[in-house]
Amino acid sequence: MRCGAGIEARQVNELFINIDPIQAGGRLTGDAIKAIIAYGDGYSVCDNCRKPNRLDYIAKPPIVDFHKDVASWLNMDTARVVPGARRGFQAVTHTYVQKGDPVLLTSLSHYTEFLAVEGAGGVAREIPANAEHIITADATAAKIEEVQRETGKPPVLAFIDHVDYQFGNMHDVAAITKVAHQYDIPVLYNGAYTVGILPVDGKSLGADFVVGSGHKSMAAPAPSGILATTTEHAQQLFRTTTIEGDVTKRRFGIKEPEMMGCTLMGATLVGMMASFPHVKERVKHFDLELAHNKIIIDALRSIDGTKILSEYPRRHTLTRVDTTGSFDRVAETHKKRGFYLSSALADHGVTGVIPGATRIWKFNSYGTTKRQAEHLAAAFVAIADENGLRVTR
Ligand SMILES: *Cc1c(COP(=O)(O)O)cnc(C)c1O
Repeated sequence: MRCGAGIEARQVNELFINIDPIQAGGRLTGDAIKAIIAYGDGYSVCDNCRKPNRLDYIAKPPIVDFHKDVASWLNMDTARVVPGARRGFQAVTHTYVQKGDPVLLTSLSHYTEFLAVEGAGGVAREIPANAEHIITADATAAKIEEVQRETGKPPVLAFIDHVDYQFGNMHDVAAITKVAHQYDIPVLYNGAYTVGILPVDGKSLGADFVVGSGHKSMAAPAPSGILATTTEHAQQLFRTTTIEGDVTKRRFGIKEPEMMGCTLMGATLVGMMASFPHVKERVKHFDLELAHNKIIIDALRSIDGTKILSEYPRRHTLTRVDTTGSFDRVAETHKKRGFYLSSALADHGVTGVIPGATRIWKFNSYGTTKRQAEHLAAAFVAIADENGLRVTR
């Protein structure tokens, strides 16, 4: 099948078990695919936009209800949809960060957090992770003190990733937030790998802002995401426009500058909405995801020389592996060099491991069934066997 313009139909999730770290949680549900077809046209959600004209007030399709549901599901007061988590970060930095202000990030922060700080003129100050690649409350306190000593003021905002993208480790957001709040620093909870994957309770974590990624973790099309906050911060973050034209004296009512009025106007939003009932259900079964992940990890660990670099036992399905002492040794002499691994995995119907990577790589088993997890486990062991690596049985 072709889409024209030289575009072939993509058949990745149809033909393979996809363990790509960033794709596993974003795979669409059947309902989202239907919504994309129905709402693919530009501005399609605007058919029934009535006064007051703003995206989050539209009742048909039920966008207004979706906003309320998302906020209460995250145990926050109010929510908006944004074109990706990064645009949520940007709205927050643009509101709270002035030129030269220090902002707390971590040594495991995602580049989009840095760019959001840069865009607002802020200065990146990273809380270092400990030897186990965990961000602690103590390290947070020490960093705040350091920033205060050096600049004379505490950071104006902190970005904390509940689960980081490098190791998939889980960090104690509640404890970190408690420390930040002692210095009156608002905390942005980055749920790019958690919102839509496992239960998130913003209030009990002490989050001032909760950001989630639709296309990474909510089975939604890109670019989509959510930004939720408390009533206290909503007044600032979701302030309405005050600008007026000097000739026409036009004003723009309740449009919000940080949202540029309206954000997701078609397939992205309706796709996210269509997946939402499935997403609400799936977060309740994260224990099963971890059980399936363990099947794969146990198999990898049985291959002599393989190390799991992520915290163990796992608390998230995104996992970093070091196979320098196993699969990489095979690459030295294999005629396909390092590409043999992804190629052999493809022969087993598995995709998502970076072609050529045999030393340090990541996978995300999110969404695999038990049978698929067992298939993955057997595939890794079979590839090890075929290439003469020792497997402990
Ligand atoms: C993927 C990711 C992002 C970016 O998410 P988008 O929705 O693509 O903007 C931000 N932070 C972390 C930790 C991520 O893993």
